[in-house]
Amino acid sequence: MPSSPGNERPKPFVFAEYCKGCGRCVGACAKDCIHAGTEINALTGLVPIELHLDNCNGCGLCIAACPEPFGLQPAPGADFDLQDPEKMFGARPSTAQKPTDIPAVRVPLPPMEPLVVKGTYASALGALLAGCRHVYGYPITPSTEGAELMAKLLPKLDGVFLQAVSEVATVNIMYGASGAGVPCMTFTSSPGFSLMLEGVSYMIGAELPGVFVNIMRGGPGLGNIGPEQADVKLACRGLGHGNTHALVLCPATPQEMLDLTILAFELTFKYRNPVVLLGDGYLGQITGKVSLPDHMLQPGLPSWAVFGDAAHRGNVINSIVLGERDLEVHNEHLNAKYARMAAEEQRAALYECADADTLLIACNTPAQMAKGAVRALRHQGVKAGLFRPITLWPFPIDALKALLPQLKRIMVVEASPGQIEDELRLALSYADVATPKIEHIRHMGGVLPQTNEIVERVLAGRAQEAQR
Ligand code: SF4
Ligand code: SF4
Repeated sequence: MPSSPGNERPKPFVFAEYCKGCGRCVGACAKDCIHAGTEINALTGLVPIELHLDNCNGCGLCIAACPEPFGLQPAPGADFDLQDPEKMFGARPSTAQKPTDIPAVRVPLPPMEPLVVKGTYASALGALLAGCRHVYGYPITPSTEGAELMAKLLPKLDGVFLQAVSEVATVNIMYGASGAGVPCMTFTSSPGFSLMLEGVSYMIGAELPGVFVNIMRGGPGLGNIGPEQADVKLACRGLGHGNTHALVLCPATPQEMLDLTILAFELTFKYRNPVVLLGDGYLGQITGKVSLPDHMLQPGLPSWAVFGDAAHRGNVINSIVLGERDLEVHNEHLNAKYARMAAEEQRAALYECADADTLLIACNTPAQMAKGAVRALRHQGVKAGLFRPITLWPFPIDALKALLPQLKRIMVVEASPGQIEDELRLALSYADVATPKIEHIRHMGGVLPQTNEIVERVLAGRAQEAQR
């Protein structure tokens, strides 16, 4: 017997603008009333489902299955009144729940002999130990081996490696995975990193974590695959449009490629902000002894994630803030976060600095040459030391400031036309402190500063001063 119009249970209606085409309602319907869509919605770029409601009995299971708050609703219509689903089905448990942070779990590892691996492999292993199981990328020398190893290992670890059609696609896939709250990363190199920057800005605006391992090579343009520190300016000052910053970590050995990748995942979730790990082409390729930590992480799930389940259906992630004052408030919030990073995350490694009056400043592979130069200079009676920024943004100015009163000379050793010196000078300028003479040794195109060259320049400078 047909039910009277007033008593008929409402059939569903799809708001195409809110349907992401996930298909959960398709599986929920026992009457085969819901089919995967075939047409792209012009407003969203997604493909909403299609309803064929001849057999629909208004059970409402599809509405309950939909993770979008407004995807499926009881349909208004001539033959029945719009019903309040809460009255019909009771309150949705999902909307009553407030998601909470599920913390990461430390999983102890047995003691292991050190490995001998190249820098990109060390970084990939670090990511796996940090709990990353979602890696996206587009191959580019000299970073490709990291992605290649992930492509081999992740399918065995219930993870995903996806080679995207481009770097632009890569960063946008990261946006999606990161929005779901899962640790994700990419391996890239300078020209690829440039292409990702628009997406990095979106991730920063939407406060999404993600780790970008950039094995820098020579530029501009295609340049070459030599170990230039070509992207310091981009990573520290140019992460896409708008008010953007990210922590920039700077390893100098394969061991640090592993350690700092693990740290990058911790920091990217701590601040809900991308983290950039800057290696250079040489560091990506050289092999070195790498010890593994005594534990690995099984990632948790942050409460803000759009995870696609009922508990997180109230979450929204985007970077659009249309009201002028609202956007200013959002930027003030970002600035407060950047200030916290600058205050709490400065890191530097100091070598022979306690009594140094001549300070070499270098990072990545050039720091190895500078370290050799410090040893050679010490043999010749020069009180030399090495200051190695591990964070290039924020520049570790607090540790450097403590050394300034004892210094007669600073020499910046870098494989770029002054990008690291620019960061140093900017940090000194904001610190508003008296500085000693700053000199530099710079090479480009994959040419690295050599230990002998550094020693000779320091000795020549001292001889000139002695003659004055
Ligand atoms: S209300 Fe029930 S029968 Fe109708 S489309 Fe939804 S799940 Fe299928
Ligand atoms: S469950 Fe909701 S979002 Fe997913 S396809 Fe169905 S209507 Fe669209």
